[in-house]
Amino acid sequence: MEIPIVRPQLGEAEARAVAEVVRSGWVAQGPEVAAFERELGDAVSAPHAVAVSSCTAALELCLHALGVGFGDDVVTVSHSFIATANAVVAVGARPVFVDIDPVTYGMDARLVEAALTEKTRAILCVHQLGFPCDLPALLDIAGRRGIPVVEDAACAIGSEIEMAGKWQRIGRPHGVAACFSFHPRKVITTGDGGMITTKDEALAERLRLLRQHAMTVASTLRHGSQRVTFESFVEPAYNFRMTDVQAAMARPQLARLDQSIATRRKLALRYREALEGHPVLAPPHEPSWMRGNFQSYPLRIRPEARSSQVKIMQHLLECGVASRRGVGNAHMEPAYAHLGWTCGPEPCDEELHRKGRCLRLPHSEAARDDTVMIPLFHGMTQAEQDHVLAALGSLRP
Ligand SMILES: *Cc1c(COP(=O)(O)O)cnc(C)c1O
Repeated sequence: MEIPIVRPQLGEAEARAVAEVVRSGWVAQGPEVAAFERELGDAVSAPHAVAVSSCTAALELCLHALGVGFGDDVVTVSHSFIATANAVVAVGARPVFVDIDPVTYGMDARLVEAALTEKTRAILCVHQLGFPCDLPALLDIAGRRGIPVVEDAACAIGSEIEMAGKWQRIGRPHGVAACFSFHPRKVITTGDGGMITTKDEALAERLRLLRQHAMTVASTLRHGSQRVTFESFVEPAYNFRMTDVQAAMARPQLARLDQSIATRRKLALRYREALEGHPVLAPPHEPSWMRGNFQSYPLRIRPEARSSQVKIMQHLLECGVASRRGVGNAHMEPAYAHLGWTCGPEPCDEELHRKGRCLRLPHSEAARDDTVMIPLFHGMTQAEQDHVLAALGSLRP
């Protein structure tokens, strides 16, 4: 038996929906994208949703629309998929990395205040692995300073956070905007794709304009018009459109989201019960204020086990179980290590920083190297989960 880290849940409903779009003759951004935007907005209680080509594009577009650019700082985490830092650099700004809370894998709100400078134009937080980060604390700090919060919710479709005594879905949105991904590694997939949710109508309008070349006449409108119309391009912009083929693939998955999340949480609970006393690996702790979607299932190597990450992953591989190490850190990658990014108001030790060993991000570094992610996807059968558990059961300290 071979268990992949993820198996996208695409079936007949998705195939039929895509075939219909192909037969319709309209495959670019059109009515399917508009319907997907409405449905996703409803699903997370956001008044506006804007579909784009990826979450990376969503993050860049949001920062650009908020006026973040050259000479500006964006406070974010290094511990994320590289796209988070790349989006900041793409608009010409500098990422200022703060460490994470080792339990939630999200930005440690207690460290944010010290990282803010007079150049800080945004806080870009991440709901890593689908676990909501500490939004109430971050929004409080940002609110006092008048700094917008953008949420990298790439992994977090369907995750919930308890705020003001109510359960609310990520993307509601709590910050100025939240950005989702539909890459196959996430809970809903369109191959590639992304979505921005916001409560700010003017921002939504601007995002719609910027995603298609800041073109004043949308192609759908010109197509249906009985009059000759000429477009104009009001500012330099992007092509970050989603296609109708992608949106059609997403809609049946979105319709099944509640059920998918319930299944994922059941699988997570079963892992937790089976692994509570495991000698080498510890299951994740979910604080009472969150209900994650378990986009991933991260296990921490117990400090007393002294077992190496590679040894554990090799054992799983030999048992036919795919695994991944913890999420990476931008400051440890060649793309960022040599650029001398600082990790707060004061620069780190230059020499250590060049080697990608910034002393100020110990929890980020530990999370990459002490975490092993195991398969969890909503189409996983009990036999498949039993197989993973058997492989973990034969692991020796
Ligand atoms: C996957 C991911 C992204 C990038 O999403 P794409 O849709 O592939 O561009 C960004 N941030 C985080 C935290 C991610 O996990």
